[in-house]
Order: sequence, then structure tokens, then C-alpha cells
Amino acid sequence: NPAKEATKERVAPQQNDDESREHINPAEKSLLQKIIRKGLVETTKPLEIQRKNPNSPLYSIKSFEALHLKPELLKGVYDMGFNSPSKIQETALPTLLADPPQNMIAQSQSGTGKTAAFVLAMLSRVDTSKMYPQILCLSPTYELAIQTGEVAARMSKFCPDIKLKFAVRGEEMARGSKIEEHIVIGTPGKVLDWALKFKFFDLKKISVLVLDEADVMIATQGHQDQCIRIHKMLPQTCQMMFFSATYDKEVMDFAEIIVSNPIIIRLLKEEESLDNIKQYYVKCKDPAEKYQAITNIYGVITIGQAIIFCHTKKTASWLAEKMTKDGHSVAILSGDLTVSERISVLDRFREGLEKVLITTNVLARGIDVEQVTIVVNFDLPMDQNREADCETYLHRIGRTGRFGQSGIAINLIDSPHAMQLCQDIERHFKKKIHFLDAEDADEIE
Ligand code: ADP
Repeated sequence: NPAKEATKERVAPQQNDDESREHINPAEKSLLQKIIRKGLVETTKPLEIQRKNPNSPLYSIKSFEALHLKPELLKGVYDMGFNSPSKIQETALPTLLADPPQNMIAQSQSGTGKTAAFVLAMLSRVDTSKMYPQILCLSPTYELAIQTGEVAARMSKFCPDIKLKFAVRGEEMARGSKIEEHIVIGTPGKVLDWALKFKFFDLKKISVLVLDEADVMIATQGHQDQCIRIHKMLPQTCQMMFFSATYDKEVMDFAEIIVSNPIIIRLLKEEESLDNIKQYYVKCKDPAEKYQAITNIYGVITIGQAIIFCHTKKTASWLAEKMTKDGHSVAILSGDLTVSERISVLDRFREGLEKVLITTNVLARGIDVEQVTIVVNFDLPMDQNREADCETYLHRIGRTGRFGQSGIAINLIDSPHAMQLCQDIERHFKKKIHFLDAEDADEIE
């Protein structure tokens, strides 16, 4: 009896919390965020700029024309559907393309246009008359390297002379051969092997180093040291471009080793808020009543879509199975799925093929599907100590800045402990969570 199991889980959640709680590593998370994003993440926050050398010039551009790119490259940019530079690109691009070259550290959340910026810089720095690697881009994983390479391939669509080589697992080269491509995109281990052990290319001839996803790099065992070893072999004159989605001491310490005398640009994240969200709670006696509340809610969703968050994947799959059996079309997103399966689940949901998505905390941040108007907490988010996890609550329900539309959040309360969590969350955010009579679901319309 799955309902009973769900109850058991709630009574003693600590016991198997760790195995049932979902884990997702930073590289995987970053990849998913990239793939499920449709376009730029906008922000109203101003760009912060720091530079050690106040004499270094700093420009900002409002159009891609102003960069005086090769016409074929500009054509490639427009062909990707980019009309004007994103906020970070406005300042990053002129600096990255400047002569003499300037080093840069850029930090902004995923989706703000960093990859497009450094790919454009890489492409415009290539000298196609020289048949050897001049540009090296280090990515933390195979998948992220491929993603970057795909962007480069698209952007250089009208520049057939520019050639690219992946230095990632699965790629093989004959001993004694040399790489003739201009750009190498790879993971640190493979790049070290190829450059030092096999001498497939010469790090001394690299004029641009891009270090992408520095924060993910740090999170991967051994990568940071490998990057530093690569960096030591590069010429003094090599231009350094260092990118990260987060900005903490560890990242900055790493950046300082790699990048000398940089211009640092940062774009702070738009704050998530509950301002436009109507929050409710529904009292349920047991899992059966929780299920009833869910079906009531399902019944009243005429427009838009809903996401249901469960604490464990066991509850999530129980709920998905039960709803499916009852004839509702639901999608489930769980850590058991491969990356490509998750992407296809999210794509289907975004297309509206399912009205409801059931999930755990995995990617609570990543799911920014505009049509989602109702978020249901089947279980309230709590931390290891079983205390209210307000941060996760905000990620599940909050919307950002002026781009956020209004929405509804419904919390299912089935125990004094859940009520306690709900009140703690209410107190934390100083925003009322209203009582909703489950029998009277019309109220939420
Ligand atoms: P990041 O590297 O910061 O995660 P990306 O460069 O991958 O950001 O950009 C995020 C999304 O926005 C991608 O889908 C990309 O194609 C798109 N994008 C990037 N720059 C622009 C632009 N100037 N105009 C429109 N879309 C853009």
C-alpha cells in the first residue's frame, strides 16, 4: 500500500532521508539549466565593475555592429537570433575584443549570455592563416564542452575556415600527429594529456585561454589543479577569460591564480520574491486527503500548469502513479532519469503536453516555465533537522523582479509538524499564508 508507505516516510523521515533525498551535482545542474533555458535571463540589476588598473579603458556597446566584427561573424550572431547584446555582453565584449588584449573575470548567473560572449571573442581572435591551436577553452565536463562547441559551430556558420577540436573523452588522435584546428575546447585532464604527454599541440602558442564555469570546475575533484598546471605552461601574453556563475572566496582565489590584472564584471542576480504570489494552506487528515486535494486542484486548473513538489522521490513516484491511474496526465521529473530524459520531460511540459509536473527538490531553481501558475507543496520543504527550509520554499514559489507574473502557492498540511513548518515560513517571509477550504476549491481560481 503506497499510501501507507508515504505515511511511514513522514513518521520517520530521517532514516532514509539521505537515500531518498535527491542529489544533483553542480556540473549536471549547470548543463540542465543551459539546456532547458529558452533565452536570456534578464535582470534589472546594474553591472558592477572593478578594475585594479584605472587606466585600462573600459567601453560599453549597445549594438553588435559597434564591435566591428568580421562581417561573416556578425552574420552568424544575427543568424542565432541575437539582436542586441545582453547586459553582461555590453561591457564584456568590448573588453574581450580590445587590443591590446585584456584579462577579464566575469560573474553572472546562468543564462545571462556569458557563453555567447566568450565564444564570440574566441572566434574573432582566430587567425585562420595559422594551422594550430591558438584558443583554448576549458570546461568542467564532456557535456559542457560539447555545449560550448555547439554554440561556436552555430556562431561560426558563415566562417567555414575556423576549425574546432574537442579534447574530451572518446576523442582519439594518432600518436605523433598534430592538431591543426584553431580552437580546442576540452576538459582539463584530456587537455593536459594531449598537450604535455602526447604533444598534440603546443600550449606556448595559445593566445586566449577561456576558463568556463569556474565554480563547477572547483567542485570537481582535481580539476582546479589541472587548470593551474595548464595555466603555468601558457605564455605570459595569453589573454585570460574567466567565467563563473557564482562569486565566492574560493572562486576568487582560483581566479587570482589564473588571471592577472583583470577587469572584473559582476551582474547580481534578481532577487526572488513572494510579492505577486497568493499563498494558501489546506488541511488534510491523511495522504488520502492530500491526494483528494491534489485532484481538486487538478480539476480547477483550466489555464496554466502546476508543479507539485514532494519531499522524497518515493512520494513523487507514488503520486505520479496514482494520478496516472486515475486518468490524469502528469509528468514526473526525478533524479532517476538521465539528463536527456529530464530534458525531454521538461520540453513536453513546456509544450503543455502535461498539465502537471511532479518533482522533488531537484532543479527547484531551474524550472522557470512561464505557464506555471500553481505550485503545490505536497510536502513542505524542510532541512536535515526537519526545520522549515525557507530558501527552498522561495526557490519553489518565488518569482523574480518585474518579470515575474502572479501565481498561486498551495501548501498541504497533514500534521502538527507540517503546520509548524508552514507557520515558520509565514513568519520568516512576513507574508500571510491563507487558509483554504479544500471543499471550496473555487476560491483559488
Ligand atoms: P550563460 O553562458 O551565461 O549561461 P548563454 O550565453 O548560454 O548564457 O546565453 C543564454 C541564452 O541566451 C542562450 O540560449 C543564448 O543563445 C541566448 N543569448 C545569448 N546572448 C544573447 C543575445 N545577445 N540576444 C539574445 N539571446 C542571447
